[in-house]
Amino acid sequence: MSKQVTIIGAGIIGLCSAYYARQKGFDVTVLDRNNESDDNCSSGNAGMIVPSHFIPLAAPGMVGMGLKMMTNPRSPFAFHIPPSIDQMLWSWKFMRSANAAHVKASEHILKDLNLTSRKLYESLTEDIGVGYQFVKKGLVMLCKQQASLDHEAGIAKRANELGVGASVHDLKGLQQLDPAITLDVLGGVHFHDDCHLSPRELLTALVNKLEEDGVHFLYGTGVTGFNQTQESVEVITSDGFGIKSDQVVIAGGVESRDLAKQLGLKLPMMAGKGYSMMVKDPVERPELCYLLNEARVAVTPMQQGVRFGGTMELGEPNHDINRNRISGIVDSIPQFMPKFQPSQFKDLPVWHGWRPCSPDGLPYIGKLKKDMRVVLATGHSMMGLSLGPVTGMLVSEILDNAATTLPIHQLDPNRYA
Ligand SMILES: Cc1cc2nc3c(=O)[nH]c(=O)nc-3n(C[C@H](O)[C@H](O)[C@H](O)COP(=O)(O)OP(=O)(O)OC[C@H]3O[C@@H](n4cnc5c(N)ncnc54)[C@H](O)[C@@H]3O)c2cc1C
Repeated sequence: MSKQVTIIGAGIIGLCSAYYARQKGFDVTVLDRNNESDDNCSSGNAGMIVPSHFIPLAAPGMVGMGLKMMTNPRSPFAFHIPPSIDQMLWSWKFMRSANAAHVKASEHILKDLNLTSRKLYESLTEDIGVGYQFVKKGLVMLCKQQASLDHEAGIAKRANELGVGASVHDLKGLQQLDPAITLDVLGGVHFHDDCHLSPRELLTALVNKLEEDGVHFLYGTGVTGFNQTQESVEVITSDGFGIKSDQVVIAGGVESRDLAKQLGLKLPMMAGKGYSMMVKDPVERPELCYLLNEARVAVTPMQQGVRFGGTMELGEPNHDINRNRISGIVDSIPQFMPKFQPSQFKDLPVWHGWRPCSPDGLPYIGKLKKDMRVVLATGHSMMGLSLGPVTGMLVSEILDNAATTLPIHQLDPNRYA
């Protein structure tokens, strides 16, 4: 008889874990408190697959930059005041990681995770179809100031040393790369290996494929607790019933922290809230995806239009929409892409999502020391969409007690215990 696995969370991490676990022959059930069409962090993000992101969030200069930005209510970064105790403890750990040694220690695993995941996206796309438009044209980091361009050129140099393709361009070179978009910038870096896709369509295609392959889904079913016995781990749901299985995967995004706590693990995790808006009838439709460097805004052509996203508001998860920061995003766009004017964003619905942020910028992937039948797969911060497939593959290997394709000791969920 196949071993039974219950996966909590139908975001990109839970769905990819289900995909690879099913391929290995596990009998898989996925639970989510949301309904299938509801939003989570995986549905409204910027849709970028980013081998270019081999530098963790916890890096030198981030603390100073964050403190400077906090004083500007329209800036792309915020830190919730007053902070909760967990937020203060998280920040202390973040500060301890924000140094050059940590960046050096993390860049190889982040690069390997990202490049492996990009490759897996290619086979996933072959298997489940192209309904979500997986576009392999790269990402361009646009810079308005010389200092930013010099900094990004340094990252491009390191990228090339690590085997991630990148080239520096002036404005003329950028316009040749993508004649479909008018730019007002000094120059930028083209990261060749990055890709983009439409995340909502990807989630739908994955669910359809998983259902076809016999994965069971229980939407509208929140997990409220666990009952651990020698024979099984029982997941207790909001309806009061229990689901027993041999193994459990916690892929609940930022809320994984509360689930892990119930199993005796204090997982440092904060929500990094971000916003996005979809312009359905854009004046121009870029062919590549872009990051507007100084404004920290992402621009991605998608099936339904062009999506603009940004901000990182660190704190406990909440549903507040900060209008100052939305105008900060909207007003910065024409400075880089002058054909897009603030009037085109008026009254657009604003999506928000909580990035599950670990303090060292590395995901949590591995077994819980206190109960080796429980696997954690979360904490992917700004890279969850990119790292979905590789995380799913690693989770399936962990469930199978097999050797993992990549070394995962740096991702140990017990590393702060
Ligand atoms: C503005 C913005 C732009 C981004 N752009 C990118 C990008 O371009 N590329 C990239 O790689 N990443 C990007 N990200 C990050 C990415 O979206 C996240 O890292 C990723 O979606 C996290 O996926 P997840 O599956 O861990 O969590 P989620 O998508 O949040 O899914 C978790 C699921 O678990 C469920 N859940 C939680 N607790 C319970 C419970 N107790 N019981 C039942 N269900 C539960 C939730 O309902 C939810 O559906 C962006 C994020 C933001 C905010």
